[in-house]
Amino acid sequence: MAAQHRNPTNITNDSLEKIPETIAISYLPESESVSKKALAKGLNYFTQGYIHDLRISEVNGAVLVDARCWRSMRKNDSPHSLHIEIGQQKLTESYCTCNAGLNGHCSHIVGLIKSLQGLKLHNCSRVPDQQSCTSIPQTVACASRDKNKPCTCKPLGSCKTPGK
Ligand SMILES: [Zn+2]
Repeated sequence: MAAQHRNPTNITNDSLEKIPETIAISYLPESESVSKKALAKGLNYFTQGYIHDLRISEVNGAVLVDARCWRSMRKNDSPHSLHIEIGQQKLTESYCTCNAGLNGHCSHIVGLIKSLQGLKLHNCSRVPDQQSCTSIPQTVACASRDKNKPCTCKPLGSCKTPGK
């Protein structure tokens, strides 16, 4: 499948292949300054499925990840928009639309990194289908490396509103 028919400057897809295996909070600049509270909240955003609408794209060799995160349990509020740029062993850019997100160190960014980390740990090759957001939990057919084993990936979002 050597399809060379693609735009080399801007590739948007759900492929997690470009996400480094080692993605972790340590990718954040000055990651040691992230508070325990933000780490705990971020982990919660990941496990509770607050992080959704992940989009991965590759622009000139850099991997860009856009995502959204619900503000709270009240999913009527418009979610925060997150954006990170992954370089060599670190994030070259990260921001979030929340008040604390200007320095790229908010709990939502932590949640996004945790989500990516979780997907990599599950050997997912692409982001689970989040486009058909319904209230019914879906079984994610993600291409795991060993196709004989069922993939344990869960949908990232169980959003109540249809995705845009
Ligand atoms: Zn934030």
